[in-house]
Parts: sequence; structure tokens; C-alpha cells
Amino acid sequence: MSRFLSSKFAALEPYTPGEQPKTQVLTKLNTNESPFPPMPEVIEAVSKAAELLQLYPDPDCTELRKVIARVYDVDTDEIICSNGSDETLYFAFMAYCDSGKPAVFPQLTYGFYPVFADITGISFREIPLKEDFSIDPADYYDAEGTIFIANPNAPTGVPLSRAQIEDILKHNPDNVVVIDEAYVDFGTESAVPLVKKYDNLLVIQTYSKARSMAGMRLGYGIGSKEIISDLNALRFSTNPYNIDRLAIAAGIASLENDEVNKAHCRTVMETREYTVRELKAFGFEMTDSTANFIFVRHPEVRGDVLFHKLRERGVIIRHWDKPELIDYNRITIGSKEQMDILLKEVREVLKEESK
Ligand SMILES: *Cc1c(COP(=O)(O)O)cnc(C)c1O
Repeated sequence: MSRFLSSKFAALEPYTPGEQPKTQVLTKLNTNESPFPPMPEVIEAVSKAAELLQLYPDPDCTELRKVIARVYDVDTDEIICSNGSDETLYFAFMAYCDSGKPAVFPQLTYGFYPVFADITGISFREIPLKEDFSIDPADYYDAEGTIFIANPNAPTGVPLSRAQIEDILKHNPDNVVVIDEAYVDFGTESAVPLVKKYDNLLVIQTYSKARSMAGMRLGYGIGSKEIISDLNALRFSTNPYNIDRLAIAAGIASLENDEVNKAHCRTVMETREYTVRELKAFGFEMTDSTANFIFVRHPEVRGDVLFHKLRERGVIIRHWDKPELIDYNRITIGSKEQMDILLKEVREVLKEESK
């Protein structure tokens, strides 16, 4: 830290992204990326868009919002696009939290929420999950704050139904409820159809997980046009050109061929069921995940041990240095080939550890 840094930020604990190895690793299953490369239409659209890089991009993302509006059956003024969905999340913390409205979120969830709360200078209240790692909607009734829920939750993969989200919305008419649907396309009901009915709902989605574009940084929020207008005020006050030309072109091309993304998601879901079956046969315990990752523990091998041993063998999964998560790991569902490598190495580690 330099001696010039504002005291506001002296105690900031930044978010720690999962490791992005500098060299190619065999089996990267730690940050929930898609195992599928971007589709050829996306690559083509990006090259074409690159021909006009001397010009600023459209700060309204008009064409992109039109395509998103069509796919989700909402109006274009009910959509904001952002540089990754993390940016819309940040705008939501800025817009809807203050001293009278703390952020409210599950105790175990996306690690970025407390960081956004800290940098925004607001307090937050964490609500414990139930024993089985699920969220009880009743715990969020009259929350007296702005609610942030990842659905399915991360890193547990456990979903809420649309009816349960609606229950939370009904019991919080004066609080904004933000539903972070980063992993919704792997088998969870989306809350987007509730946007027309509830003016306190903001749904956030991303191209990073289900659309093979984590490297492009593109996300979007869907909410009432008043909510979108609040968020746009913040966007235009920080970075109006937050989406570059390449991302706009890629986003349009990807959604115009969304059936390809959907098929990829189905493949990932099948591979998830396969991986779950195999790991359970090895004695692993896990939540019923509807995400492109699973949250696992083994009764005989500590999570940190498994993590380090797999790493030595070229397989990277996600582990957290937190006492309450010492037994757990999150494993991204990659291709069937990647999962077979994981399973082979896991078998070896279990053999070693049981000696
Ligand atoms: C990955 C992730 C995001 C953000 O992804 P972007 O790449 O910024 O779009 C948001 N929420 C959760 C829960 C995530 O796991």
C-alpha cells in the first residue's frame, strides 16, 4: 500500500479470483468456464467488429439489447449490459444499499458480495444456510435490506424454485431483490418471467458460464425500466463505454445461435450426472447441484489435501482457505474427457490416502 491510499480503502480485502494458470494446464476445473470453445459465428462476428476498433462502441448497446429482449421476452429498456455480470452487481450494491439498507445475503455464497459491500462502504447481514446447504425463503421475509441471492447458489449449486423466489419478492415489497443467475442455464428455473410483475426484482445473467465467453466479459441485468434507469445513471457516471465493440458483436452472434449454447449446457448437465455417479461410488458426498459445478467432500480425505494432491497431478479444482470449508471443494464440470482425467487422479489420491 502506498502512503497516499485513501483511508477508506486501507482495510479493503479484495476478491480473490480462482487461479488462472499462466501455462496451459491439463485439466482446469476451478473457475466454472465452459469446456466448449466459442462458436465459429462468434469468432467471425468478433473479427468483423475489429475492423471498426478506431470508433467508440455504442454506449446504449442498442442492437445487443434488442436480441436479449427478443430471447427473454422483455423490453429493451428493461435491460442493462455490463462488463461481466460482476459490474451490474456492483452497480446494484451502489444503487440500492446505504446505511438504512444493508446488503443481505446467504452466509455461504459468491465471495464477491461482501467485497462489493465493503468497497461501497455499506454493512451487510449474512443469513446462514440450512443444514443441507439450502436457502429457506422465510429467512428473507421483510429483510430490511437489499437482498442478493445467487440462484443456483454458489459454491453449493443448490437452487430455489421460481415460486420460492416469488415468495421472497412478495415478502419484500420495499426491498430490491437481486437474483444472480450466473448458473441458471444448467437446470434452474429463471426468475426473468417475474420481472413484469415485481418492480423490486433485478435478475442478473452472464455470458461467462453457459455461453463460452468468460474471456469476453459480458453480462446483463433484467429489471423494471425504473431499476434499469437507476443502474444506467451509475454506468454513465463511471464508464459509459463499458462494453466494447467486440463484446457487443460476440454477444449478438452468440444469442442468435442460442440453441448451440443450450445444447452445450445439456451436455454439461449429462456430464455432471455422470461425474456425480462416479464420485458417489468413490464415497464422496455432495449437494444436488443444478450448476456447472459440484460441491463435494469425502468423509476420509480432507478437502485441502485432495486439492493439493490433485494440483500436483495437473488437475485444478477450487478450494477455500476457510475453516468451515476445509472439507469441501468445488469442481467445475468440464468435458467428459476432463472428468475422466479427474476421476482417474481422484482414484489415485484416495488410494494413497487410505494407505
Ligand atoms: C461467475 C459468477 C458471476 C460473474 O461472472 P462474470 O464473469 O462477471 O459475468 C456472478 N455471480 C456468480 C455467482 C458467479 O459465479
